[in-house]
Amino acid sequence: MKKIIDFSRYSSIKIGPKIAVEVIKSIDPSYEDLFLIGGANNLLLSPSPPPLAILSKNFDYICIKEDELVIGARTPTGKVVSFAKRHDLAGFEFLSKLPGTIGGAVKMNAGVKEYEIKDILLWVRTYTGKIPASKLGLAYRTSKIDSIVYEAGFRLQRGFDSELLQKLLQLRTNQPKAPSAGSIFKNPPGDFAGRLIEAVGLKGKRVGNMAISNTHANFLVNLGGGTYEEAMILINEAKERVLAKYGIHLEEEIIIL
Ligand SMILES: Cc1cc2nc3c(=O)[nH]c(=O)nc-3n(C[C@H](O)[C@H](O)[C@H](O)COP(=O)(O)OP(=O)(O)OC[C@H]3O[C@@H](n4cnc5c(N)ncnc54)[C@H](O)[C@@H]3O)c2cc1C
Repeated sequence: MKKIIDFSRYSSIKIGPKIAVEVIKSIDPSYEDLFLIGGANNLLLSPSPPPLAILSKNFDYICIKEDELVIGARTPTGKVVSFAKRHDLAGFEFLSKLPGTIGGAVKMNAGVKEYEIKDILLWVRTYTGKIPASKLGLAYRTSKIDSIVYEAGFRLQRGFDSELLQKLLQLRTNQPKAPSAGSIFKNPPGDFAGRLIEAVGLKGKRVGNMAISNTHANFLVNLGGGTYEEAMILINEAKERVLAKYGIHLEEEIIIL
């Protein structure tokens, strides 16, 4: 079954075409050739992306099974934080900062400060079965996951930390409020992408209706009606200027389709 998704509404950066996306209702290897989207909080879609798929709501669930928390990959991270709070579970507080689904968070090894998905993940289920977290190559904002993740198992520990949750929510204040796809680039070793972009004079730079944020230079923001082409001009300019001035290759964190 296909569903029309308007990515200029669905994606967090509010860019992308209105196109048909395959809706996956059950585990099936025939979907592996499609590009799976989660909440599209880390994506920049061109007007002609590759064939896309999305998990159906059948994969939106959370259940406690013995000493594990089993979560469907389509489950929104915010729902997981609320569940952890209600059931007094520790380790999920940082997800409050990460818009998206559990599948997207696992694939990206999403994290905030010293907290990352890999610290709490036990396994994922793909069409081949359960794969232990240690085999997924989870590292800074990356993984070696090359299959659709249908569900994931997490360590169950008691003690939701409300103080940590408040501290993490405070961190949001240095992020722009305008639509974005999170950090544009990964931080290079020993430095910060935002600092480098600011140092080459691009903080606040605007092209059409896209801009490098004035609040945080590692965020590309849509000022209203911004386009893929405008976004790409800014991304490429940031890469070129940082390379020319510092010899550092910035690597995109956002996924460009
Ligand atoms: C305002 C803002 C702030 C952000 N701050 C942070 C931050 O502090 N730290 C951080 O790490 N990220 C941050 N992000 C990025 C984003 O929240 C994370 O990358 C999140 O995990 C993306 O989840 P998603 O479901 O939206 O994935 P998508 O953006 O839809 O997809 C991201 C990747 O995950 C893959 N994927 C999605 N679901 C699955 C699945 N079920 N199986 C296999 N692969 C899958 C996609 O194929 C794609 O490669 C921020 C984003 C925004 C908009």
